[in-house]
Amino acid sequence: MSDSAPLSSNSSTDPAAVPRSRGRLVIISGPSGVGKNTVVRAMAAHRTFHFSVSATTRPARPGETNGVDYHFVDSEAFESMVEEDRLLEWAEFAGSRYGTLRGEVLDYLEVGRDVVLDVELTGALHVMESYPDAVSIFVMPPSIEELESRMRGRRDMSESQIATRLALAQEQMQVGPDRFRHVVVNEDLDATVAAIMDILE
Ligand code: 5GP
Repeated sequence: MSDSAPLSSNSSTDPAAVPRSRGRLVIISGPSGVGKNTVVRAMAAHRTFHFSVSATTRPARPGETNGVDYHFVDSEAFESMVEEDRLLEWAEFAGSRYGTLRGEVLDYLEVGRDVVLDVELTGALHVMESYPDAVSIFVMPPSIEELESRMRGRRDMSESQIATRLALAQEQMQVGPDRFRHVVVNEDLDATVAAIMDILE
């Protein structure tokens, strides 16, 4: 928009003349195992968000539901999504591919819904480039030892998966805090969710 563009007025009573407000995009990132998913789910109790359901080639874990936790797809289907440009971003993480479907984000933002993404670091940085107005929040564990103990507590990862994810977590924790608008340490779920709600006020 040029500086000389006329200012629009919000005083009109004609609803068609009032620009439709877009929802906010909230990007939650942080190392795997830090509890992002639990945090995001708990946010739903405070406010209405659309939680973007990603596509992944990772097999479903016990208790996960297709279409709710992820869209679980095989490599061929994921490749088609990439080729058809249906993904806003995608990344390879710990041997599987994960991607954000454009429809999960754009369709909701356009009708004024707030959308929450739970994505690893490279995907988050990519989305932040396309959406500089997004609220970006990096969730940190209180310590790397605590992260390791949370991963072990989940009992759904092998030793080698834990080792891979811990190494990635250490790299991400060096980069993340400088690149996000907000950093929250997830020591306690309720306090973390409260801190995020304050950010979104
Ligand atoms: P998990 O396998 O534990 O569910 O997720 C592994 C990592 O992938 C997490 O850090 C999660 O935030 C990230 N992730 C989930 N969906 C997406 C996505 O659509 N894009 C990207 N870039 N990362 C994702």
